[in-house]
Amino acid sequence: METMSVRLEFHGDLVALLKRNENKPETARLLFRTACAKDLIESQGVPHTEVGYITTGEGCECSFMYIPRFGETLHVWAHTPPVDVTRATLLFPNPLEDVSFIVDVNVGRLAKLLRLAGFDTLYHPDWDDDRIAEIAEGEGRIVLTRDRELLKRNAVTWGRLVRTSDPWDQFGEIVSFFGLEERIELFSRCPTCNGILEAVEKEEIIDRLEPLTRLMYNTFTRCPRCGQIYWRGSHHSHIREKLAASLKKSIFDPKG
Ligand SMILES: [Zn+2]
Repeated sequence: METMSVRLEFHGDLVALLKRNENKPETARLLFRTACAKDLIESQGVPHTEVGYITTGEGCECSFMYIPRFGETLHVWAHTPPVDVTRATLLFPNPLEDVSFIVDVNVGRLAKLLRLAGFDTLYHPDWDDDRIAEIAEGEGRIVLTRDRELLKRNAVTWGRLVRTSDPWDQFGEIVSFFGLEERIELFSRCPTCNGILEAVEKEEIIDRLEPLTRLMYNTFTRCPRCGQIYWRGSHHSHIREKLAASLKKSIFDPKG
């Protein structure tokens, strides 16, 4: 009956995402129907955002819209990090102008860490999948989530199924995956609202400081969006160390 089926063979970390029908690990699936590659792949539990490229049995690359013939095998390959979202590929022909994120509520704490590292990151606990997909499409943002169904949407072009559960691990995972280590600018963005922090003179804000802060610190930044004031306290070195540990390297911060 092989001639009446399409065979999908999954590679790399995509195998771990396959819906399991049985207890034995398997990398290939026989589907007794055909449809476009995106639909066939996603029917097996793998969102299209997780696929780096697809090759036919003849070794040619094909797009998500490709409809395989019965008897044909499609090889489905994972991304090879670091993934550069500003570069077009056959599967992702419309690259982003720059890296920015929108974070789903199921990985909400990751949003704060990405902002602390200076990455433009939108997050709101009340946003549902519709809203997230709409913003991602409209503003060209990468969706970060643990929800596969959100990533299967056609409106979501760029996204990543976050694999780890600890927020610090997630930070390391995402920064490494998109190759952003060199672009980290610690404490340049407001962790609360995503505003870009500006240096502010101590005299200007001195009446808003607690007595001890007034005494101990001289360098301050302020968020022009929400008005929050920040200074370099001991929590800064703690955050820097935690982020560095999640990347397994030191984070250079000239302003620190
Ligand atoms: Zn702010």
